[in-house]
Amino acid sequence: MSKSVRIVGGVCNSINPAGLFNNVRGWIDAEKQLPRINNGPRSALILGCSGGYGLAARISAAFGAGARTFGISFERPPTVRKKATPGWYNNQAFEMAAAREGIFSETLVADAFSDETRATVVERVRRNGMAAFDLIVYSLASPMRIDPKTGETYRSVIKPVGKSLCGSTLDVATGKMSEITLDPATEEEISATVKVMGGEDWKLWIEWLKENGLLANDVKTIALSYIGPDATHEIYRAGTLGKAKEHLEQTAFDINAMIADIRGKAYVSVNRALVTRASVVIPVMSVYLCALNKVLKQKGLNENCQQQMARLLRDRLYGVNAQLDLDERGRIRLDDWEMRPDVQQAADELLARVTPENVRELTDWAGCSAELFGLFGFNEPVLF
Ligand code: NAD
Repeated sequence: MSKSVRIVGGVCNSINPAGLFNNVRGWIDAEKQLPRINNGPRSALILGCSGGYGLAARISAAFGAGARTFGISFERPPTVRKKATPGWYNNQAFEMAAAREGIFSETLVADAFSDETRATVVERVRRNGMAAFDLIVYSLASPMRIDPKTGETYRSVIKPVGKSLCGSTLDVATGKMSEITLDPATEEEISATVKVMGGEDWKLWIEWLKENGLLANDVKTIALSYIGPDATHEIYRAGTLGKAKEHLEQTAFDINAMIADIRGKAYVSVNRALVTRASVVIPVMSVYLCALNKVLKQKGLNENCQQQMARLLRDRLYGVNAQLDLDERGRIRLDDWEMRPDVQQAADELLARVTPENVRELTDWAGCSAELFGLFGFNEPVLF
């Protein structure tokens, strides 16, 4: 691959649509190898459908269970001079594959946080004849949100809370490790992050769909969270993002109360850390990710987004022997393999030894880097 392909801050200077089509095809093929999900969703709404966990959930629902899917994502279309953002091609690849197999799908590229988008979904569903949704996956990862009621813009920040953080971080694209110091977030930054990544918008969606008769009886809605180990505690769970996830998790209880009359259920699924466009920009997290991947691969426990969501639908939500296996706070735990004590101990041992000089060999930097470039359709690591 050309060395001119560069990724800075999670943004790549080039896109390879054919590679993106191949990736989506690969996830669909993997899904189709698995046992069919009987009694699975029939009509699914996926918020954040164009990449990462949302795309994987859409693939599982459509190709694993035959569900009709409505997907929403925020992607930039191509122009005469510029290619689109990767998710645009992922959406196309999904739609083409679904159409080939006669599985209905509709995709809307729009701001999921806006009431106009909610209204458009209602209008389109009435027009396209989709049944009321029996699965709603909330998988948005966004740096900003405009409050639909006030018009105010909120920007999320990735910072520790209460105290500064000094730690090692890794540029997954280049393998360069460096020390960083992050100041603690202000109260305003914390509440802005909760506004963007907390549960407020998830609840608005469910309210809106319910008011418009678009929630089926026994509907399930899932939002995604992350907890992680001590190694990432300060930057993630005890940081601004963790505050937002606590709010999201709390919102599940409100939504459960709101949809109890139709026997609906809201769950938070705590998923494993994986290379996605959202996760690679989290400082400190990147070194842990590379160490974690090394250990999970050694132990034969490594999963990608598609495998995680296939497990969510088959083993937790719908399969014949599905067990929710909720934790003490009512959450589904798909980070169970990541959080296994033997996995964490081995990851800690690697993290204790890692240096800027040995990070590429000691950890699975090459694998993570390849995954990162894969998010833009380039499927080999770029060696600098
Ligand atoms: P991603 O960046 O791969 O996907 C984010 C999706 O959100 C994209 O489809 C994007 O288009 C969409 N989106 C962003 N802003 C939008 C907007 N305004 N309107 C409509 N769509 C919008 O992210 P991901 O890593 O798959 O994250 C999805 C969820 O999973 C997040 O809640 C994240 O916290 C959670 N999660 C991620 C990890 C991880 O390691 N990646 C682990 C556990 C949980």
